[in-house]
Amino acid sequence: MSVTVVGSVAFDSLETPFGSRERILGGAATHFSVAASFFTDVRVVGVVGEDFGDDEFAVFRSRGIDTTDLQQVPGGRSFHWTGRYEDDMNVAHTVDTQLNVFADFDPQLSESARSSRIVFLANILPALQLQVREQCSDAMLTGLDSMNFWIESERDALTAAIRAVDCVVLNDAEVRMYTGEPNMAKAARQLLALGPRVLLMKQGVYGACMVTAESFFSVPAYPLETVVDPTGAGDSFAGGFFGYLDSLEKSELDDQDLRQAVVYGSVMASFVVEEFGNERLQRLTEDEIHERFDEFREMTVFEPPVRATTR
Ligand code: AMP
Repeated sequence: MSVTVVGSVAFDSLETPFGSRERILGGAATHFSVAASFFTDVRVVGVVGEDFGDDEFAVFRSRGIDTTDLQQVPGGRSFHWTGRYEDDMNVAHTVDTQLNVFADFDPQLSESARSSRIVFLANILPALQLQVREQCSDAMLTGLDSMNFWIESERDALTAAIRAVDCVVLNDAEVRMYTGEPNMAKAARQLLALGPRVLLMKQGVYGACMVTAESFFSVPAYPLETVVDPTGAGDSFAGGFFGYLDSLEKSELDDQDLRQAVVYGSVMASFVVEEFGNERLQRLTEDEIHERFDEFREMTVFEPPVRATTR
């Protein structure tokens, strides 16, 4: 079993209220693949420049992530994103985006990348997401993420990509922006009407919720006392979600499977934000994941469910 992810593999320069880092390993596909690698085999599809060195490749290698489809362009420079977060770290500002080799990215997947059961189209040009989706015609489960920039500038292509996947992962502001509907329940219904079976709505420090035609499931964020850098929280959430589902090795996924996956997504997101970039995930252990999963269960389940006597 394996998951294929296509998206940015980058250097990030970050400033948060807790400090700053220059050119550390980042990118949506990086965060997704490292998180998913705790659950299953991962193949990453992306492009980097000659500045992407042994140390960066070593992070993927140390997690057993297949980088066969990570093209390296001789003489090129890697995608570089510079971001700054306000004291309210739900508010992020893009200071600079240098696409570099990413500008000419033309993903052509190897046979093994095409054959994964689960394919995640991280935040890239929607036309490229569709191109990859079409190359993975046998995938059992597909998902995509996007961002305000594409919602505004590539709406039609994004709609076509949304129609082609099973699961859409967006934050609540993006869902509102895409649908033009301020009521979240109506907005979710509009999005699902396009075809996807599942909408995962990220709500930053407030957690995440999953909406399907039949059910609604909400999970709080883990109550961390120190959040150092929220970069990659959404991608790690998606990595935990899809990685866990792949690890089940099931051909049919039911609502309980999806709910557990939302909790594993939340677990992975809660770790990544504890330190800059994916520093925390590089030394994360399986025991820590299981321990936090249990804590999430305690936060979300109350037993026995005793109804109050109301009057
Ligand atoms: P997240 O915090 O999960 O929304 O994603 C953060 C990651 O997205 C960072 O590591 C960036 O390198 C990457 N990123 C930022 N802007 C873009 C963009 N326009 N296209 C692709 N990836 C991006």
